[in-house]
Amino acid sequence: IKIKITEIDCPVSVSSAFEGERVRKDTMFAEFGGNRTPAWELVTTGDLADIEDHKITLIGPDIDDAMFEEGKTVRLPLGVLVEVAGKDMQADFETVLERRIHYFLNYVEGAMHVGQRNSSWIRLTKEAYGKGFRLKHIGEVLYAKMRDDFDKVVDKCQVTIYTNKEDVERLYTEKAKPVYDKRDTRMAALTDDNVEEFYTCLLCQSFAPSHVCIVTPERLGLCGAVSWLDAKATKQLDPTGPNQPVIKGTAIDERLGIWDSVNEAVATNSQGAVESVTLYSILEDPMTSCGCFECICGIMPEANGVVIVNREHADITPVGMTFGELASMTGGGVQTPGFMGHGRQLLGSKKFMSAEGGLERIVWMPKALKDDVAERLNKAVKEMTGIDNFADMVCDETIAVDSEAVLEFLETKGHPALAMDPIM
Ligand code: SF4
Ligand code: ZN
Repeated sequence: IKIKITEIDCPVSVSSAFEGERVRKDTMFAEFGGNRTPAWELVTTGDLADIEDHKITLIGPDIDDAMFEEGKTVRLPLGVLVEVAGKDMQADFETVLERRIHYFLNYVEGAMHVGQRNSSWIRLTKEAYGKGFRLKHIGEVLYAKMRDDFDKVVDKCQVTIYTNKEDVERLYTEKAKPVYDKRDTRMAALTDDNVEEFYTCLLCQSFAPSHVCIVTPERLGLCGAVSWLDAKATKQLDPTGPNQPVIKGTAIDERLGIWDSVNEAVATNSQGAVESVTLYSILEDPMTSCGCFECICGIMPEANGVVIVNREHADITPVGMTFGELASMTGGGVQTPGFMGHGRQLLGSKKFMSAEGGLERIVWMPKALKDDVAERLNKAVKEMTGIDNFADMVCDETIAVDSEAVLEFLETKGHPALAMDPIM
């Protein structure tokens, strides 16, 4: 028996009307993740017998138990574990449900959610706190929305919220990371050439109306949260939903990654705002960027390569701009040749701006990002060029940020970009 959960036990409104709401520092009461505290979110499937429907558990301090000084923001670690069960539930659907956490929490009046997996970042306003919003309400909202939106596959749902640093860190290693890794490994076996269809993603049109992501096995959505498998699963779960197949057909240009089918899908879904995109080039008709990209890649002409910066990195980059400054010119659903937003996973993809020479063009990225992607980056570059430990040739902020010093480092390392054809 399926029950529609229409009433959500929550002291503030929950509606898509609040989706675009930003929580700024001066109105913020509490903050989780966003590089200030560890945070992650995970949806897993359990046995029907083991999951207790509507069980919401908070393990650790709540926002009002947390030590705080009057007027100072409460900052807590946060692990959000959503366990679902249902006879039609499949493990492939987990990532689809997990991505919706982002949307469901943004529906909450006075809440802001950015990121995904272990880069999630949540802010709550003083007003929401004043109205009685507490951490268990995150569980209530997720419970109700999961049951409502995924009633075809979710028969039972329980939510556990962890706020002790020790739990959040331990469960990340023991529980969340192995699941993220397993998904990535499965995805790594697929290539753009060995599938028949790509998928559109229109989820971000609510705030970037002309933005269309084209999701392929080797190029995930730029939020980093929608892989080709996720898009395929979403289509199964929600046949008229945001992810529709684009039957590839023959490429017009394999090097740039141009397909008639893709152009048509982008033109139709952007209401004519964007008519042609390439999937493998940053210079010629690059894909548009909405606003939730995990990273931005931009050309550094003097190094004949590209600089990449992730959202968490607040400082200036060798192109003279910060992530925020780059984001303001790259986002909004317009094409910006020379710049593009993308997911972290793309940094291990052989299709990463392959029209301009690919991963070998990367000359600088923040150390934290480099450490995070090094293994996959090294593997892909080794397979493509024979170069060992490519990540060591990539400069970072602990080595240099100033353009000249970056160039000096690249020369010392014999970085391959310096010997490649001029990038522009
Ligand atoms: Fe979909 Fe792209 Fe938005 Fe991710 S960034 S949710 S893939 S439209
Ligand atoms: Zn987006």
